[in-house]
Amino acid sequence: MSGKIGSVMLMRSKDFLEWADDWFGRMLKRSTIGRAVDRVFTDFFQWARINSLFPLHFGIMCCALEMGAASAPRFDAQRFGVIYRSTPRQCDILLVNGPVSKKLKPDLKRLYDQMADPKWVVAMGECSISGGPFWQSYSIIEGVDKFIPVDVYIPGCPVRPEAMIEGIVKLQDKIRAERKGVLTEDWIRK
Ligand code: SF4
Repeated sequence: MSGKIGSVMLMRSKDFLEWADDWFGRMLKRSTIGRAVDRVFTDFFQWARINSLFPLHFGIMCCALEMGAASAPRFDAQRFGVIYRSTPRQCDILLVNGPVSKKLKPDLKRLYDQMADPKWVVAMGECSISGGPFWQSYSIIEGVDKFIPVDVYIPGCPVRPEAMIEGIVKLQDKIRAERKGVLTEDWIRK
């Protein structure tokens, strides 16, 4: 026991925070408190999560124009709580549209890693699903799901704003079906 306390005292602050986070998470998962809090608050967090999906303001090519049009007054994606943010720290959707080049891959992966959990990925348009018109090109990745897990695919070239909004609604359905808690789930503290 004293050895354990000694090793905790010798930890660097970053290691200590990771250790404390891990310890606290495991304790909550095992305790009835975590389960009780989840039972009371899961519905509320589900509602908030579903109605405030913030995609990263990130566009590569022509589909990005449709993404912009979807949030303009005519289509008004904000009705569904979809508000673009420009930093991955504030986003929960990585909406990939346009061809992903091999050169861009590490940056896109970094953006994904910088997003906090829970997070989801939407592949919008043929380019992000399979490479689209650039399929088998020497510089293009044939689908973003080759290196990032994708939750919803929206086919089209280009994807119309209505289709993008339908894809977001499908993602909302998926989140609703998952119905995950806030304290006792593994995915919250990956
Ligand atoms: S899917 Fe078609 S419209 Fe969309 S980015 Fe690719 S080429 Fe452009």
